[in-house]
Amino acid sequence: MARDGYQECVIKEIAWANQNTNMMKIYLKLGKDDVYNEFLDKSGIKKKLDAARQNIPIQCPYCFAMNPIAQHCHMCGIDLTEQARNYKENWKNAVVHNPDFMIDRLTEIKKGMAQVQVGK
Ligand SMILES: [Zn+2]
Repeated sequence: MARDGYQECVIKEIAWANQNTNMMKIYLKLGKDDVYNEFLDKSGIKKKLDAARQNIPIQCPYCFAMNPIAQHCHMCGIDLTEQARNYKENWKNAVVHNPDFMIDRLTEIKKGMAQVQVGK
């Protein structure tokens, strides 16, 4: 819990229901990485590193093309992210469980387009 950033008073309350306990001294052992990670996190460096990691181009596992930040490969169209794979899987499941799903969605889109044209 301490590594997850819980306040000492919360840990004492959950673990021992006693704010005057000395058990934290006995059970809380910080490693070198804990102090280092806390420093990186509190100083904002960790967020900058995470953001920099997210901007790294993705190489397509199928055609090996390098892609900027994208859901799909710009060369072969394969899904590059877990989010893209989940999105496609959710649509596939929706169609399998409700064969009219696509027809319903297309009808909604058609109605929306008709309303836009009426608004012109
Ligand atoms: Zn590709």
